[in-house]
Amino acid sequence: MKGFLTLLILPIFLYALEVKNGEVKILNFDKNSTVFFDSKRVKTLKNPYKKGKFYLLLPIKYRERLGNHTLLIDGKKVSLRVEKGRYKKESISVAKSKVKPDKKALNRIYKEYKSAKKIYATFSDIVYWNKPFILPLHSKITSHYGNARMFNHTLKSFHSGVDFRAKIGTKIEAANDGVVVIADDRYYAGGSVVIDHGQGLYSCYFHLSKILVHKGQRVKQKELIGLSGQSGRVNGPHLHFGIRLYSYAINPLQFIKQINTLMGH
Ligand SMILES: [Zn+2]
Repeated sequence: MKGFLTLLILPIFLYALEVKNGEVKILNFDKNSTVFFDSKRVKTLKNPYKKGKFYLLLPIKYRERLGNHTLLIDGKKVSLRVEKGRYKKESISVAKSKVKPDKKALNRIYKEYKSAKKIYATFSDIVYWNKPFILPLHSKITSHYGNARMFNHTLKSFHSGVDFRAKIGTKIEAANDGVVVIADDRYYAGGSVVIDHGQGLYSCYFHLSKILVHKGQRVKQKELIGLSGQSGRVNGPHLHFGIRLYSYAINPLQFIKQINTLMGH
C-alpha cells in the first residue's frame, strides 16, 4: 500500500515543478542526493533544522531561458518549468556621467565589477547564520526586483535588488549573521556593504552615506552596518538591498520568504 501511495504522490510532486526567472527554488531531500540542473551539478546542503535531511537552493538567473529545464535527481529526470516573472519597465533620470561614463570611470567600473564577481562566486563551507533572515529596514518599497531599467531613455539593465524609501541617515541593519566582504565606495553602487553568509550566499546594501563596518568584520543580525544615502547611480536617497546566491542576483524578498519557510518561520 505504501509503495502504491508513493507512486501516486511522486509524479504529481515531481512533474509539476515551477519557478520564475530571478527567483529561488528550494527542494527538500531525505538523503544527500546528487542533483544536476541542465547537466550542471548543483550542491545539496545539510538542513540545519532537520537532522539527517538535506535541501537544495536553486537560484534561477534573471536571464534564464524560459520553458522546460531538466533536473536529474539521483538519476531520475524531473522537469522544472521556468515561467516569466511579471516584471515591469521603469525609466530613471540620473547624472549623465552615470550613463555614459568616461574612460577613467570605465576602468574603475570594470575593476569593481571583476572584484565583486570574484567575491560572489566564492563558496565558503561555513554557515554563519542560524536565524530567519530579516529586512535591513522597514520602509516602503519604491522599486521592485526585476524591473527592466531605462536610464535616461537607454535600456541598461534589470533591477538586481529591491529599493526601500530611506531618507539620508536611516539606520541599516544586517539581514543575518556573516562576514563583511565589501565595505567601500563604488561607482554605480556608491557606499557599499556586502555580507557573506556562507555557502555562496551574500546580502548587499548600496548607496550608503556612511559605512560603519570594515572588510573582514564578523557581524550579527540587526547589527548597524551603515546609514542610507544617495551615493552612486541614483535619482534620490534610498537603500538598495540585494541577495546573491551562487553569483546570481535573485529576488531578495522571494528568497527571504522561501528560506524562512524552510526553517519553519
Ligand atoms: Zn536598487
